[in-house]
Amino acid sequence: MAVAAFIGLGANLGDRGAALQQALASLAALPQTQVRQVSSLYRSAPVDADGPDYLNAVAELATGLSPTALLQALQAIEAAAGRERLYRNAPRTLDLDILLYGDESIATPTLAVPHPRMGERAFVLLPLSEIAPVRVTPGQLAAVADQRIERTDTLLWPVAGASR
Ligand code: AMP
Repeated sequence: MAVAAFIGLGANLGDRGAALQQALASLAALPQTQVRQVSSLYRSAPVDADGPDYLNAVAELATGLSPTALLQALQAIEAAAGRERLYRNAPRTLDLDILLYGDESIATPTLAVPHPRMGERAFVLLPLSEIAPVRVTPGQLAAVADQRIERTDTLLWPVAGASR
């Protein structure tokens, strides 16, 4: 049975748009997984962190992978993008988070779903509200209204040549 999983994508080093497009192609290539929807591309100021602006998006997957298998797959895609964990919240070439996995609540040492900080982050809530408005409340959006973020006109998906 496929589950609707929402993935937060972010990048603030290197060719950020290319990193996100490559990540989407990698997500689409995962076993038992399809990319159902991708939000617009957003540009946001780093939260509690240094470095250049982030580019962000949220993707909806339909996946038969377990939450743990999906997390491992995301970490492999991050590693392939050359991400180094220099220090907490360091600038990164690619950050992938499981925001939602169906309606499940998961709390293990390695995985917390819904993502514990998603409700504080405009760069998650705005793109998520675009593709899954029922998953975001007006109160949540109001709470992040002071964060600097803008929607861009760049089309991230479908990537030319990618199979859907
Ligand atoms: P980060 O450096 O922000 O990518 O955090 C990565 C760490 O967060 C990993 O060690 C994961 O095990 C852990 N983690 C906990 N919950 C989640 C989640 N929902 N999505 C992705 N990583 C998570």
